[in-house]
Amino acid sequence: MKEILQDHSLSELQILMEEWGERKFRAAQIFRGLMQGKRVSELSELSKTLRAKLCERFEDEPVKIRETFVSSDGTEKYLFELADGNIVEGVLMRYKYGCTQCVSTQVGCRMNCAFCASGLNGLVRDLTGGEILSQVLAVNARRGGTLEKRAVTNVVLMGSGEPLDNYANTVKFLRNVTAEGGICISARNISLSTCGLVPKMYELAEENLPVNLTVSLHSPLDEERKKIMPVANAYKIEDILKACAYYFEKTGRRYIFEYSLIDGENADKRHAELLAELLKGRPCHVNLIRLNEVKEKRLSSVSEKEAYRFLGILEKSGLSATLRRQIGADIGGACGQLRAKRLREVQDDQSDTKELQ
Ligand code: SAH
Repeated sequence: MKEILQDHSLSELQILMEEWGERKFRAAQIFRGLMQGKRVSELSELSKTLRAKLCERFEDEPVKIRETFVSSDGTEKYLFELADGNIVEGVLMRYKYGCTQCVSTQVGCRMNCAFCASGLNGLVRDLTGGEILSQVLAVNARRGGTLEKRAVTNVVLMGSGEPLDNYANTVKFLRNVTAEGGICISARNISLSTCGLVPKMYELAEENLPVNLTVSLHSPLDEERKKIMPVANAYKIEDILKACAYYFEKTGRRYIFEYSLIDGENADKRHAELLAELLKGRPCHVNLIRLNEVKEKRLSSVSEKEAYRFLGILEKSGLSATLRRQIGADIGGACGQLRAKRLREVQDDQSDTKELQ
């Protein structure tokens, strides 16, 4: 694979142009062009020679939209192809205030949560900051957005991968996606979701990047959490809560807990009461979601009625909580589901050809 030009910040591009003996303003032209979702070969303001030199060293289009699936509720799901042929997925959800794009930070995932399709085949590789950014740039351009009037207004790092397990690239992405002169999405409109890598949560608090912090909790009890999230063997809930409090102190941002309701695992009345007790008085919000059932995993969701009952217990105790409506369920809305489906198809195709031989 060649290098990725979208990994560069404006000041890094300025250094590169200087090294190449080009005028400094070329860097701003390149940055702006890329942020409009252009390929390197489409940067037409540049001289032919400079463009050719860039094309020689950098990927022309690091992230291509290979397929788009449109749900009946307007949600769009994308399969992105990376320059090395790997595939990641993303979603665009439409709301009254704008559009939220969900991006992936890794191909696959190491965390191996019991309910999640992203970790089915482990981690393949980290995405670079430019590859994460290019997912946003590609969708913004595809939906007719410009830098002045963005089609993508909000970003959530909730696709495949654990963003804090790919820390440096994720931070690089956050700096470039929020940078002046680019697509310039405010940190307040960005949410980073983590399974709770405590030391990295502290590090993020120091970055001066006040993104919304979301933690996948999924249980109020360490022992039960370990059963569905192996990462719980490394970090205790108590330490996650301390890291969240520190994040709040540093950024002033209220934090959010994700809680996917899994039948017979974490969705009883007892869990709701313990969760309410655990989070009482903290500046946080709880996002409940009914499990999106994954074919390869033997876990099932609770009914809508049971989910509302769980929500009711949290609300009664004074917690701020919502039950997220399931969107895009008809197109494989949950993390990694679409990629997993695609991998199955490829495997099926391969076994078909084997049979033919
Ligand atoms: N690795 C990060 C971000 C990715 S997932 C994290 O763990 O937070 C975004 C959210 O979807 C997480 O809360 C994750 O636990 C949840 N999730 C994954 N698979 C799911 C499924 N099948 N049903 C419901 N929620 C799921």
